[in-house]
Amino acid sequence: MDLELRDDDLAFRDEVRAFLDANLTPALRVAGSRVTSVFCEPRYSLTWQRILHARGWAAPSWPVEYGGPGWNEVQRSIFAAECARASAPGLAPMGLRMVGPVIMGYGTPEQKAHDLPRILSGEDYWCQGYSEPGSGSDLASLQLQALSDGDDYVLSGSKIWTTHAQYANRMFCLVRTNRDGKPQAGITFLLLDMATPGLTVKPIITLAGEHEVNQVFFDNVRVPKANRVGPENQGWTVAKYLLEFERGGGSAPGLKVGLDRAAGIADVAGADDRAHRRRLAESQIAVTAIDMSERRVLSALASGNPPGPASSMLKINGTEAMQRIDEISIAALGPYAHVEQMQAREAGSNIEPVGPEAGLTAMPRYLNNRAATIYGGSNEIQRDIIARLVLGL
Ligand SMILES: Cc1cc2nc3c(=O)[nH]c(=O)nc-3n(C[C@H](O)[C@H](O)[C@H](O)COP(=O)(O)OP(=O)(O)OC[C@H]3O[C@@H](n4cnc5c(N)ncnc54)[C@H](O)[C@@H]3O)c2cc1C
Repeated sequence: MDLELRDDDLAFRDEVRAFLDANLTPALRVAGSRVTSVFCEPRYSLTWQRILHARGWAAPSWPVEYGGPGWNEVQRSIFAAECARASAPGLAPMGLRMVGPVIMGYGTPEQKAHDLPRILSGEDYWCQGYSEPGSGSDLASLQLQALSDGDDYVLSGSKIWTTHAQYANRMFCLVRTNRDGKPQAGITFLLLDMATPGLTVKPIITLAGEHEVNQVFFDNVRVPKANRVGPENQGWTVAKYLLEFERGGGSAPGLKVGLDRAAGIADVAGADDRAHRRRLAESQIAVTAIDMSERRVLSALASGNPPGPASSMLKINGTEAMQRIDEISIAALGPYAHVEQMQAREAGSNIEPVGPEAGLTAMPRYLNNRAATIYGGSNEIQRDIIARLVLGL
């Protein structure tokens, strides 16, 4: 395993740093640093995506033929780490990291020609319609009905927890096209327009008071069969392919930023007791271990080996470390953590924060990150994977 950066990697890192210095505006940095969940609002993330797209860097993992920059794994990791360090707004993964690779792998030539350039440029903003009320971890039990009618499917039912459905103009979703046999064998993967008649989006407001997720209702929504990805009833294969991309991506760079933030809060809030310093040190050790594990996986990937169950271990460790860091920040802020400051934390707001600046985001981050051990495959499910594939239980 080779963990050291080579001279050409260091030169690449300097090139990325220079680009970020020149192009990441102060407003975008503020927006990036005040994001309280994994998703940044599209008015910022799409602005940054357009800047990256103009440089050819919007989709680090896409093949060159579809507009990717042709980077290797190490370069992609350097780019992600530098973007986190500079507080660049995160780009929404639903187009670039989820449905984009699926269309490359399973889409028709027409879908590739139409959808891929629009994902890359940010012209289309996507949401993911997988989960349903009653079908989350047990995704194969999904019920959204798609009846065949000539050249269309007619959809009835509902999707839930659909992140940013209120902004999206496109959705990729799983529908039920057959109820006989194994549940996995009757699922189909569709692409649809959010403006289709019969489709309504209802907000779900999170504990942090934010509108990020939604429930989407389908009342006889017609979707052309030409929008199907892969054969009818073969959607499960397509869905599993997508989940590999959903779980990808290292968390150490973001955790280091969070740890620095927590340490900074401790300084300004005067929380310098021994217990507090010990908790910070424990998290520092955990993040260093995650960083090393991610580099090990990266090194394996660079040699052509898949991450396997290591991605489950990293999901568990990364999300639990994130939650511990949030707890440290809340404890350090004391009463300032409890002041609701939604308007003051808007990028561009001129409202003075009550208490330390970090108090603007600590509590909503803490509340939003409770979901991190649930979404993207809950941590209990990841532990099951480790039990089966690593421990042979
Ligand atoms: C903030 C947020 C954003 C999301 N965004 C999207 C999105 O954009 N699109 C989308 O399709 N979905 C999205 N989801 C949904 C997410 O994928 C589901 O919440 C997740 O799959 C869990 O499903 P569930 O909520 O139905 O919980 P359940 O599956 O009902 O799980 C409840 C609890 O039981 C445990 N459990 C379940 N089965 C097992 C088992 N076999 N063994 C051990 N423990 C088990 C789980 O770990 C969990 O603790 C989002 C969720 C959140 C919280």
